[in-house]
Amino acid sequence: MKPVTFRSPSELQSAGLIPAGDLETISRVAEQYVIALPERLADLINRDDPSDPISLQYVPSREELNALPGEAEDPIGDAAHSPVPGIVHRHPDRVLLKITSTCPVYCRFCFRRERVGPEKGAPLSKAELEAALAYIAGRPEIFEVILTGGDPMVLSPARAGEIARRIEAIDHVRVIRWHSRVPVAAPERVTPEFAEAIRGRTKSVFVAIHANHAREFTPEARVAIRRLAQAGISLVSQSVLLRGVNDSFEALADLMRAFLSVGIKPYYLHQLDAAPGTSHFRVPVEEGQALVRRIRDELSGLATPHFVADIPGGVSKAVMNLPDIERRGDDFRLRGRDGEHYSLPGAQKN
Ligand code: SF4
Repeated sequence: MKPVTFRSPSELQSAGLIPAGDLETISRVAEQYVIALPERLADLINRDDPSDPISLQYVPSREELNALPGEAEDPIGDAAHSPVPGIVHRHPDRVLLKITSTCPVYCRFCFRRERVGPEKGAPLSKAELEAALAYIAGRPEIFEVILTGGDPMVLSPARAGEIARRIEAIDHVRVIRWHSRVPVAAPERVTPEFAEAIRGRTKSVFVAIHANHAREFTPEARVAIRRLAQAGISLVSQSVLLRGVNDSFEALADLMRAFLSVGIKPYYLHQLDAAPGTSHFRVPVEEGQALVRRIRDELSGLATPHFVADIPGGVSKAVMNLPDIERRGDDFRLRGRDGEHYSLPGAQKN
């Protein structure tokens, strides 16, 4: 049986996820930003807690109508770096390939919220996909192709496999990376057939799994994630630092440990991009830096992600982790996990 997904304010209200008095306001939100919340994820929500971290991520709120100056429809400049439809080429050795604009769930803080959803974009046509693959094939400097969207893991196994094989056939591409929320948001899609379809034959395959709270790792999600690992796919994480969701040391440590517990290496913790109507999720940079430093001080080295921000306009990411080294004159001083500083002998060239 196909899983149920709530797609309208009235469905969310019937499921007890938004108060009846908010229906009109949330309907105005829904006119701007698409809604999808699988029942499986909705079941994780504590309906008695208005600050439930799962609800905050997926259930629309009136704050989304509050677009601020400085927020942008395309905050990381995808369009400015798109030479052909579906391709974003920001850095010489890698490209994004955006196959679809749909997702199994629509996150309320999404930086592509003006471009995701069935009404905001169409999947790449056959001709567009051919042109995108020809673009990659014609540039030997492209080492890695990052499939993103939308969520590329909404594709059928046959379609995902076909695209994976076409990319693998390009000799100079050595790494294929899928960016996806599917393993936690719609784990039933990660069938043995799907894992088999995308596993690498001749190239390395990574899946960067997006999750923001430890409770998203349901037993079904764990099965899906293990299935990808068993297919020989390398797993890394991506999360967004979100007010009310993972902005405490305890929540962030639990999240990083949840990733590690299922074999996912914490990779990126993103500062929230300035997409319209998302300011209620924003955590100040210094707060994020202090949280990540404490993760580094108190947890296994494997648990520390790169804390990154995308420079507006799409220049690159910038890493914002506080450094463990500082220079005072000729003295290079290292910060230990005890918070003290120690000189590093021989750091200077003689
Ligand atoms: S799954 Fe990713 S692309 Fe889709 S709404 Fe969430 S953050 Fe945006």
